[in-house]
Amino acid sequence: MNNTKKPHTIESLMAKCTEEGDCQLWNGSTTKYGHPVMTFLCENKRTTTNVRRRVAQLMGMKIEGMMVSCSCNNALCISPACIEVISRKQLQLKTMKRERQQSRINTRAKLAKIAQRRSPVMSMALAREIRSSDETGRQIAARIGVSAQIVSRVRTNRSWVDFTNPYLRLKAA
Ligand SMILES: [Zn+2]
Repeated sequence: MNNTKKPHTIESLMAKCTEEGDCQLWNGSTTKYGHPVMTFLCENKRTTTNVRRRVAQLMGMKIEGMMVSCSCNNALCISPACIEVISRKQLQLKTMKRERQQSRINTRAKLAKIAQRRSPVMSMALAREIRSSDETGRQIAARIGVSAQIVSRVRTNRSWVDFTNPYLRLKAA
């Protein structure tokens, strides 16, 4: 019985991926960090190969003592278009940079959310709600998240004057 399996080629590995732009996203097993791996039995021992390293080797890149990463930062990608061989130090710097970027994005999203809570876009609908509410100015300002000054200006018809309100027109007459 012939036990030798046909060795993988770049094409046979890409056949196990889903193409997404320049990326080839691995559909097989992954490590707990989401990096593509292949597991096979070799002399009754389970052996795990890092697929990205295998692709880099097949591409003729020198990977000894180096890390194999991908420029697209998608952990599942094994595309020759994205693969880059870098030193451990470079990889650390890259990871740090990505984490900093991610935390900046998170901070910005958080601030945007807070800003939205503090000042909803003022609208005629809100102005009507302010005028029709029995709450004190302070209460409604806190509830809908606008300043007490805006509430006061709306209630005294100094801003967001509602000309469709017949009572207002009567009062003005
Ligand atoms: Zn990619």
